[in-house]
Amino acid sequence: RYLALPQPEDKVQCMYIWIDGSGENLRAKTRTVETVPKDPKDLPIWNFDGSSTGQAEGQNSDVMLHPVALFSDPFRGGSNKLVLCETCGHDGEPLPSNKRRTCQQVMEQAKEFKPWFGIEQEYTMLDTDGHPFGWPKNGFPGPQGPYYTGVGARNVYGRDVVESHYRACMYAGVKIAGTNAEVMPAQWEFQVGPCEGIDMGDHLWLGRFLLHRVAEDFGVAVSFDPKPMPGDWNGAGAHTNFSTLQMRQPEGMKAIIEGIERLGKRHAAHIRAYDPHGGADNKRRLTGLHETSSIDDFSYGVAHRGCSIRIPRQCSDDGCGYLEDRRPASNCDPYCVTEMLVRTVCLNESG
Ligand code: ADP
Ligand code: MN
Ligand code: MN
Ligand code: MN
Ligand code: MN
Repeated sequence: RYLALPQPEDKVQCMYIWIDGSGENLRAKTRTVETVPKDPKDLPIWNFDGSSTGQAEGQNSDVMLHPVALFSDPFRGGSNKLVLCETCGHDGEPLPSNKRRTCQQVMEQAKEFKPWFGIEQEYTMLDTDGHPFGWPKNGFPGPQGPYYTGVGARNVYGRDVVESHYRACMYAGVKIAGTNAEVMPAQWEFQVGPCEGIDMGDHLWLGRFLLHRVAEDFGVAVSFDPKPMPGDWNGAGAHTNFSTLQMRQPEGMKAIIEGIERLGKRHAAHIRAYDPHGGADNKRRLTGLHETSSIDDFSYGVAHRGCSIRIPRQCSDDGCGYLEDRRPASNCDPYCVTEMLVRTVCLNESG
């Protein structure tokens, strides 16, 4: 009822969104501005209490929010905006948890490669008590099998959240590519892409924000933990599909294989960048079981889901396309993942 009230044209609600000190959780707060912003630069730099988000000490607690990307607000509608922000100190320098700045510099250096990404974001819905959504409270659902891409009330839990999130992403301007139910019940995936350069991180972070926020309306919590349920249950990843202009063109398979060989020489450095705890989170997931490769080994193969890198069957048939890096954890920072891929494959960095 209140959201249907007419809104004055010269009052626009802008929800500023940022990544907190954990490097994986999001925060947001809203302010009113007097004109509809067309570009993030139209909006003021703002600040927040970094001592409450793990980003500053109490004695010097102001952290600055620099608007970097604008999206339409599917919750408030009209001309209201969601505003993705970088977190910076007073000097304008990025905080340690702000991985976007170096990512953007690397994307700028490599822009003639036209790097494209598509990330498959897996996640798990939980009840507010932390128990997987729809699972029996005293015990477990039947073993994995009927749930992946399933249909029917005994096979999938939480579809209303998924459908609402999908539409919210499209309305906001997040480049969502699809969704599917996953192997573990209450686990789902949405894909974002293809996105070029820095857009990948921006769009994925917004997609995550929208998911948390939509699920809130259903009393559901979302976990991006890469192994929320120990035991014989699949973990959650963020498969990162990646291509350069050369890989997408005829005979591109040569560049794909060259790229994979470079990745093979830097496996450990990539693993360190593929979750917010230097590989510790992913260690619980990359066991060599449940459609994963072992965290200690590097491997690749056509259509092989037990490899670090998969070349999709279609790309192998076409002789060009993209590669899929299956290593990133579901709670990875996409700025770190895309930056590393470009550093290794395009800029030929080593070590
Ligand atoms: P999977 O078969 O591994 O489940 P999905 O269909 O879930 O793959 O996701 C594939 C992702 O790859 C999508 O996000 C899509 O946008 C992305 N993608 C498609 N083509 C390219 C490309 N040339 N470069 C990078 N990403 C791509
Ligand atoms: Mn206050
Ligand atoms: Mn997928
Ligand atoms: Mn998946
Ligand atoms: Mn995949």
